[in-house]
Amino acid sequence: MRAVTFQAPGEVLVEEVPEPELIDPGDAIVQIEATGVCGSDLHIYHGRVQIEPGFTIGHEYVGTVIEAGADVREVQAGDRVLGCFQTACGRCWFCRRGWFHKCDASRTFGHGAALGALQGTQAERALVPNADLVLRKVPAGMSDEVALFAGDVMGTGYHAVAESGLRAGDVAAVLGLGPVGLCAVQAAKASGAAHVIAVDSVAERLAMAESFGAEAVHLSEGDPRAAARAATEGRGVDVCIDAVGHPKALDLALRLTRKCGTVQAIGVYAERCELHMGLLWIKSLQLCAGHANVIGHVDRVLAMMSAGVLDPSPLVTHHMALDDAAEAYALYDRREALKIVLKP
Ligand SMILES: [Zn+2]
Ligand SMILES: [Zn+2]
Repeated sequence: MRAVTFQAPGEVLVEEVPEPELIDPGDAIVQIEATGVCGSDLHIYHGRVQIEPGFTIGHEYVGTVIEAGADVREVQAGDRVLGCFQTACGRCWFCRRGWFHKCDASRTFGHGAALGALQGTQAERALVPNADLVLRKVPAGMSDEVALFAGDVMGTGYHAVAESGLRAGDVAAVLGLGPVGLCAVQAAKASGAAHVIAVDSVAERLAMAESFGAEAVHLSEGDPRAAARAATEGRGVDVCIDAVGHPKALDLALRLTRKCGTVQAIGVYAERCELHMGLLWIKSLQLCAGHANVIGHVDRVLAMMSAGVLDPSPLVTHHMALDDAAEAYALYDRREALKIVLKP
């Protein structure tokens, strides 16, 4: 079958790879009908996240189950499904507490040997371990490109808001309006935020956040701190979400947030980073971080998308064939797209 493989930094290739086969009775094989290109794929593309040359990449997927192991109960051959970007065992100490994202035996699709050696989903077919936990049936009437968001990007935006403890009537700020930041804007509004300040420096992304009901503030041409003060009688925002993953964004988040507020760093950090601990301490801020518990949130996210309360469809800017993956990655790398959906 055809699959998109990592070759070297800046180089992906569509090539023939072996067909996936059931290994465990809990596995399923999914015929992929739509698969997304994600910001995390770019970390691999840039060589920042290192994986083996020839490994199949991709972790966002919608398709049809074509084979299910003897222990699979929740889905069967012929079901249209979406999946989460990582797997979990469902049995370990962390899974038993609902922290599926920290499962001791977790594997992430398309991230090489370091994250569980699970081949990616930018392929014609994919093996899905522990299918009962990882897959969900696509609700009737939901398009592939919307369903695609439940197992990764919208789940992550939702997680950022849910874990921040945001309450109805709160004022939130979202820094960085890539797909996750834009989904966080929607999730904050859907969770009852009275006002959402959305900060970025790309005009189209600011305009989209505005269309989702946020107050768009340009990072340098505008004044995010003044906007936060103006919306809160000078206190600062109740919750600030850093969807960038850069020390400068984190520093701004500490400054925008009111005393006893929460800073939620959902953007990816992989290295040491200096932050103003004095500011965190004197303001009694809470700082949360880490990637999303997508398996834990996927049912709520699907329900909200099904009801139209969350709607990621405006984020889909490009549809391309799997065979054009090299072009898709180059285009995404140039920040010319928000979400590219590949069709095998
Ligand atoms: Zn992703
Ligand atoms: Zn586990």
